Amino acid sequence: MYQSHFFDTDIARLKGMWGQRADLFKTELRIFNYGDLIQYYPFRYEDRTKFHDISGLTDNMEYAQIKGRLRYVEKIGEGHKARLTGQFSDSTGVIELVWFQGITWLEKNLRTNSEYVIYGKPSFFQGRAQMQHPEMELLNETNAVGGHFQPVYNTTEKLKKRYIDSKIIANFQRSLLEEAYSHIRETLPEDITQKFRLIPKRDAVYNIHHPRSEQWLHQAKRRLKFEELFYNQLRLIKQKLLRRTEYEGQVFKSATLLTDFYKNHLPFDLTNAQKKVIREIFEDMKTGRQMNRLLQGDVGSGKTIVAFICMLLAIDNGCQACIMAPTEILADQHYQGLKKFANSLGIRIEKLTGSVRKKARVSIHEGLLDGSLKILVGTHALLEDVVQFQNLGLCVIDEQHRFGVAQRAKLWEKNKFIHPHILVMTATPIPRTLAMTLYGDLDVSTIDEMPAGRKPIKTVHRYDSHRLNVFGFMKDEIKKGRQIYVVYPLIEESEKMDYKDLTDGYESITRAFPEQHVSIVHGKMKPVDKDFEMARFVKAETQIMVATTVIEVGVNVPNASVMVVESAEKFGLAQLHQLRGRVGRGAEQSYCILMTDVKLSKDSRTRLDTLVRTTNGFEIADVDLQLRGPGDLSGTQQSGVVDLLIADLAKDGEILRVARETAQAILDEDNELQLPKNTLIREQIASIQANQSNWSRIS
Ligand code: ADP
Ligand code: MG
Repeated sequence: MYQSHFFDTDIARLKGMWGQRADLFKTELRIFNYGDLIQYYPFRYEDRTKFHDISGLTDNMEYAQIKGRLRYVEKIGEGHKARLTGQFSDSTGVIELVWFQGITWLEKNLRTNSEYVIYGKPSFFQGRAQMQHPEMELLNETNAVGGHFQPVYNTTEKLKKRYIDSKIIANFQRSLLEEAYSHIRETLPEDITQKFRLIPKRDAVYNIHHPRSEQWLHQAKRRLKFEELFYNQLRLIKQKLLRRTEYEGQVFKSATLLTDFYKNHLPFDLTNAQKKVIREIFEDMKTGRQMNRLLQGDVGSGKTIVAFICMLLAIDNGCQACIMAPTEILADQHYQGLKKFANSLGIRIEKLTGSVRKKARVSIHEGLLDGSLKILVGTHALLEDVVQFQNLGLCVIDEQHRFGVAQRAKLWEKNKFIHPHILVMTATPIPRTLAMTLYGDLDVSTIDEMPAGRKPIKTVHRYDSHRLNVFGFMKDEIKKGRQIYVVYPLIEESEKMDYKDLTDGYESITRAFPEQHVSIVHGKMKPVDKDFEMARFVKAETQIMVATTVIEVGVNVPNASVMVVESAEKFGLAQLHQLRGRVGRGAEQSYCILMTDVKLSKDSRTRLDTLVRTTNGFEIADVDLQLRGPGDLSGTQQSGVVDLLIADLAKDGEILRVARETAQAILDEDNELQLPKNTLIREQIASIQANQSNWSRIS
């Protein structure tokens, strides 16, 4: 981020940073040089600008700073139960202070009848104000006036043991900033800083560590977030442009099979959303631009037929197509679905997975090479070198997040002459901000509409105490001829306990439904037994399926119309949404019943309320992002792309949008960044890249 050599200086050179400390900064925080340290931003700030009156404290204050007098302290209880309480007052009232730890030290060092500035979270106990483990500082000239924001930095246990706490880091930042200030270059061109009224880089860096005021802090954050997202988007869009100019795509013009399929074999009317994404995809495939497109659509939105129609266009033009899924079950499901369509047109389609026998394999390889095999469905097995196509024109990748970029690249190489078009499909809706950063180098098409006639799944939240009612409801549904899933959580750490929950649940259900046949499926069963039980449920020989989350993907039983999720609070939002997608596949009204204990955390309640309120996967993904932050969302862990220092994809959607538009406009005008006015940007990109390679060398 900083070009000057100054920022390459080893942190050991900083005043007060003697050897051992420097080593800890390096091993614990991965801070090696001045540049790393100055970019180690606080994660929050304590507002020390004002003092609160004790009489004005409320329960919902996060923190409060008070100026007053410590009246007395008193130790209560002995041993483990010992605590220290103190009485603290200002001219407006009294607050009780409580400590559970470090009592001996505190007793010795706290000075009763002295004036202090204290800081902590106020709470109320039986109407009386209280503060636990407040930070205490004797009143002095500096803290008496207040007026500053105290930055708070992340530390680690190891650092704390060596007395390197947030305050020490703040001091290091302060002394570094004094020296560094004049070395900080501007990194955004003036027309951008002016247009968006962004403060200079120097001021932003200074104020992010030591804000002069709330206003300055806000402006500093805005400036640094914009810069980070701007360069992130610039890089992604540049990659996309590069590919466009560098790689040609096959041009698909004729559409004989396609017309036949549309006219004679289309099993249903396409939704407008399906038509829209097909147009977007065809636009790529017909114009000679090599497609790299993400197709998003909620579970059941009809991505398979879209993929098939695109495959037809490739086949119509002398090419072959393949589709790769992350598991055998999913590959099989695609194969079954696509085979029906392909058979109606007399197109040869085969499935290739790890379990395909040698003889069948050889025939597949031959068919691929002589061009008679048009569509290949499979798993990772497709990537193997022996799998050679005569002329691969389109690759569809399902559930992108389980495949890495390297694997995508491997598919490119399956056609040596001209890269195939790539269509990445995902059923895990991703919030827009995340899609822009994760897949910013891909074009995105979205199916945002469900096929007509689907009845939205009714979702309710019930407490365990209402179990009898729920059983009654299940009985009614079974009487109508429906089938039911009952799902238990599976958390790896406590597998034994979960297994017990599952078997207990199974027993209580067999007791409550003596006339019904009940299946049970869980992760510890042998695959053959699992398949056997699944098959019984599919054939409706059993009415209830008690299972762990193994059924999450790949099960399609249209007659199953009720999904009961036990201990629903233990599931993530995305997971619950996927589970719910197992029902609602037939014509009947479907239900999802989320069972929980009465005691629930605030986040759990939000998750459950969200599911009850909406079936829209994008809305759900957004809430998930707000609750968990981008790092934990499914599908993003392995990607490592969302490596942002300061921008928050859950909150900074608007800044991201503007940053992307700005980056796009600049590249539209000057895609090589050759114009003089873009020199600064070009240099900054080079500097970021240089830094990244440094990083990989160090770590
Ligand atoms: P997903 O997007 O989850 O892969 P599928 O492609 O498996 O969804 O489609 C789900 C179901 O909806 C399938 O049974 C499919 O045949 C059906 N379907 C897809 N598109 C339509 C449509 N336009 N009208 C009616 N049914 C459709
Ligand atoms: Mg699908």
